[in-house]
Amino acid sequence: MSSIPANHEPTRTVLLRPEEIVEDANTKLGRANGNTYQRKPGVTNVHDGQIMVRLKKARFIILDYGYTPNNHDHAIARTTPHISIPHGAGQTKCASKDCPRLGVPVLLYDSMPHEPMSLYLRGGLCFSCQRKLNEKRRTRRKRKGDDEEQPDDEPHSNGHRAARIESGASVGNQYRYNDQIVELNSDAIIINGPVAGTRTHGPDYRCHEIGNDLLGTVSQLSEETLSLVQQSDNTSWASPDSVNQQYQQAFLSATRATFLLTQWKASYDAQQQHSDYATNDDSAVDSEILDEAVDSTENALGMDHLDGPTPRYSMDQSDQFDHGATAEL
Ligand SMILES: [Zn+2]
Repeated sequence: MSSIPANHEPTRTVLLRPEEIVEDANTKLGRANGNTYQRKPGVTNVHDGQIMVRLKKARFIILDYGYTPNNHDHAIARTTPHISIPHGAGQTKCASKDCPRLGVPVLLYDSMPHEPMSLYLRGGLCFSCQRKLNEKRRTRRKRKGDDEEQPDDEPHSNGHRAARIESGASVGNQYRYNDQIVELNSDAIIINGPVAGTRTHGPDYRCHEIGNDLLGTVSQLSEETLSLVQQSDNTSWASPDSVNQQYQQAFLSATRATFLLTQWKASYDAQQQHSDYATNDDSAVDSEILDEAVDSTENALGMDHLDGPTPRYSMDQSDQFDHGATAEL
């Protein structure tokens, strides 16, 4: 029995190894807009397999039409901007009449995750039908004599991602943040509100309870980090996949811990303010003033006001791929 080539193994996780992504992008995909590379084969009349697509010179995505994500994958996707699981991924059939294939892929990798989401993920069509549609549109445009460079795959705005601010040519990663525009470093880390398994402080969730959750999370983080570091030290038996998984788990715990820490402090500050008012004024605490105090603490923390189902944090807003190209598939 012959062994199965690595890339024909079924997908088991949304996590790809960074080195395989880079290698395929550099050696298999090519730099032309619209190039594709079939990373895993499809199954006739079921799904289109795993496909790498060049959308722009600098942007490429990896779609998997044949993989049904599990809970662990969803947790990873929530915390990794490059990975996205649209509603119905791996389950919803293609929106074309009589097409039996799956129409919503998992996004295993997006080299520019803050650009608007690709039509391949939003269109509800299988890869074959979406390609056919794109081809039709392109032909129609050519007949009309329109600008061939006009993108026909990607939207100009209203993407489902972070509210990226469009401006001049040398734009970095700019975001609206509490009505200010901030430019993030390429290695910025964002915690966008309560991470899975955590919640915002409030009257029924205060220092004492938050403190207990925080201590539990920190202890879990400590165990996970220890196991991660020990495993990677012992290279003889650590597989990259399991190191990746443990890394994601530890990163998730670190994010939870950071979020809970800010909530603990916000709750503590609100309680302090509460007792200050109580000491300075014999009358009952004005609940409006207390609310304002809580609000202002939340505003100071700030990070929970970004729009949409944006990534909770980003590990590397990869600047490894150059900015600029506008032409698309
Ligand atoms: Zn189809």
